[in-house]
Amino acid sequence: MSEVRARFAPSPTGSLHIGGARTALFNWLFARHNGGKFILRVDDTDLERSTEESMKGILDGLRWLGIDWDEGPIYQSQRIEEYRKFANKLLEEGKAYYCFCTKEELEEMRKQAEREGRPPMYTGKCRNLTKEQIVEYLRQGRKPAIRLKVPQQGKTVVHDIIRGDVEFDNSTFDDFIIMKSDNMPTYNFATVVDDYQMGITHVIRAEEHLSNTPKQILIYEALGLGIPQFAHVSMVLAPDRSKLSKRHGATSVQEFRDQGYLPEAIVNYITLLGWMPKGGEEIFDVSKSIKEFTLERVSKNPAVYDVQKLTWINGHYIRNYDLDKLTEAVIPFLKAKNLIREDFDYDYIKKIVSAVREREKTLVDIADAMSYYFTEVNEYEEKGVKKYFTKEKVVDILRKAVVILKKVEPFNKFTTEESYRKLVEELQISSGELFHPTRLAISGRTFGPGLFDIMELLGKERTIERIEKAIDFIEKMKK
Ligand code: GLU
Repeated sequence: MSEVRARFAPSPTGSLHIGGARTALFNWLFARHNGGKFILRVDDTDLERSTEESMKGILDGLRWLGIDWDEGPIYQSQRIEEYRKFANKLLEEGKAYYCFCTKEELEEMRKQAEREGRPPMYTGKCRNLTKEQIVEYLRQGRKPAIRLKVPQQGKTVVHDIIRGDVEFDNSTFDDFIIMKSDNMPTYNFATVVDDYQMGITHVIRAEEHLSNTPKQILIYEALGLGIPQFAHVSMVLAPDRSKLSKRHGATSVQEFRDQGYLPEAIVNYITLLGWMPKGGEEIFDVSKSIKEFTLERVSKNPAVYDVQKLTWINGHYIRNYDLDKLTEAVIPFLKAKNLIREDFDYDYIKKIVSAVREREKTLVDIADAMSYYFTEVNEYEEKGVKKYFTKEKVVDILRKAVVILKKVEPFNKFTTEESYRKLVEELQISSGELFHPTRLAISGRTFGPGLFDIMELLGKERTIERIEKAIDFIEKMKK
């Protein structure tokens, strides 16, 4: 078998969303699994809707996910001459023709079809213009489009690796446009010319393009070119099985990144939108996907997007990530929350990340969970206040805690724990009566890392100060 060449061909008219990232990933996995090439092409012939910003976002998103390409990006907008050449060839061979119909004429045709209850197809009006007519129109300065002469009989069959054979009646196609009157190719035509010239062996793309594929096959046939293999990956639906859109929350890779998801978690999750390892695991490394990925095992059924599952997977990656990598990833979020500045203490941050990560599911959560190490505690969780700060003996207990903590030296999680346990025994109270209000006093919260980890991370001075401040708070509250 010749070398596998797959491609991802985004249109830079928006962000890289979950569905697009999944298409890119499947192409990439397929290429990597087969030791082939993955090519990035940019479908930017829609000059009005294509933007630099979108292009940059898509490339950044792919890089961030670790989807690297061997060739490209190849921009369609720089290849207009090529499309023109192929269109000319079809014109010369009589397989395509100039169409001089104006917008108004086409509109009239559409209305007529509507009145007669026919589908709005081009009638073939310019199919048989004479040379003289063509010369005359051109002399008048009319700008023609170019249409493919589509066989009016027979069937076109798409052999789809995922879906099997899908048949289309040629009579359902009109002589569609391959080059527009502004000299730009249509999607179907540019795609065929590019896929051919780029030596693409497998076209893996979204199911929404399945209806374009027979048209592309007709173009391949007219050009006398070999046809690549096709695989149409099913839709990604929202949890309510409607089309996934903005109203379902974050759907772009950029948004997930801003919300503190890790690239490995997203890659893991989007792989599951249509595929899973043979063993059925839900958490797996991309190297496993590369090893096992085949198109035959991609599901025909729509994938249902589930942010809770993504978040669950993200939590798993957060717990198991290399601590330095995780710390690096958290730092921008701490900066964004103004919790740290440029002169931050990396090692200190790393220790806190290590203490809090067990319970958190995103980098944003981690940054939130770290806030009281960098800011004073000015508020206490309300339900904690009700539960722990209203206890009769609480001020007494906390006062005694301050007294013994002052004596603890060195001040670390072992020595503080030891002194706290002793105090519990001395006072004949339950450990909760001491531990819970202390936690609330020094972190403002009722849950988080182990109490003595927090104490060690805050240090002696801040721990004591915060307990004293809480005592004041409780006394004022009681008045
Ligand atoms: N630019 C098209 C899209 O983004 C590419 C479709 C294809 O892969 O042929 O949907």
